[in-house]
Amino acid sequence: MARHDVVVVGAGNAGVSLAARLLRVGAKDVAIVSPDRPHLFRPLLNYVAGGQATMSELTRSTASVIPAGCT
Ligand SMILES: Cc1cc2nc3c(=O)[nH]c(=O)nc-3n(C[C@H](O)[C@H](O)[C@H](O)COP(=O)(O)OP(=O)(O)OC[C@H]3O[C@@H](n4cnc5c(N)ncnc54)[C@H](O)[C@@H]3O)c2cc1C
Repeated sequence: MARHDVVVVGAGNAGVSLAARLLRVGAKDVAIVSPDRPHLFRPLLNYVAGGQATMSELTRSTASVIPAGCT
């Protein structure tokens, strides 16, 4: 079974931000556990509702938003 110093559950805004911050302050072994589904930048949903953005603009693959150095 894989073991890590820190495991963050959820690759939403909170999980991704927390993992990035931990790595910046020197944590060496941070992992994020997340379902295999796209990351949605939720604040932009307001703009989609207002016709100023599209769903594709707020959708990213989860892998692409995981900070470098994080499992
Ligand atoms: C329409 C809308 C507009 C918003 N506008 C703003 C704004 O303008 N400014 C602002 O600051 N905030 C805004 N917010 C709020 C902001 O988007 C949320 O506060 C923020 O996304 C919360 O982050 P989170 O990581 O807690 O949750 P989320 O971003 O929802 O992430 C939760 C993650 O956990 C994962 N997950 C769920 N269950 C499990 C499980 N069992 N195991 C592992 N992973 C799991 C999900 O897949 C998801 O990736 C808005 C929200 C909405 C809906």
